[in-house]
Amino acid sequence: MLKIGNGYDVHRLQEERKLILGGVEIPSARGLMGHSDADVLLHAVMDSLLSAAGEADIGVQFPNTDLRYSGISSLVLLKEVDRIVRDKGFSVLSLSAVLICERPRLAPYLAAMKENIASALGLSADQVGLTVTTNEGLGFTGREEGVAAHAVCLLEK
Ligand code: MG
Repeated sequence: MLKIGNGYDVHRLQEERKLILGGVEIPSARGLMGHSDADVLLHAVMDSLLSAAGEADIGVQFPNTDLRYSGISSLVLLKEVDRIVRDKGFSVLSLSAVLICERPRLAPYLAAMKENIASALGLSADQVGLTVTTNEGLGFTGREEGVAAHAVCLLEK
């Protein structure tokens, strides 16, 4: 059986936060607001995996009222999601994600982000697709109010 999953997330940009995307800390005057490290890319990836496996989203799995998840690296949460998915008998065939971020330029960090995701999920780099784009100045991402991410995955059981 093949199952497809779709995930989407947005986090607001603010001062005095680190910008962590795909488990990579990226030099930036502002970072993403959130209970965990607010890694919007990994959050979209996790929700795609949970959706494909028929499980509840990360807001249910890792409630923001739970102090255990305060400031936690989303790579730790991604490994936990991988365990949930594998426990249900699924393996990840393919994962594809896109980050929508006006600034800073993310291309130099793409390879490291992909490697982090592949490594957390026990995949090879060629099973993970990752692209970055701006929003051409339009909308909340274009105004640099936040960063958004979409992800899709294919699971097999
Ligand atoms: Mg999130």
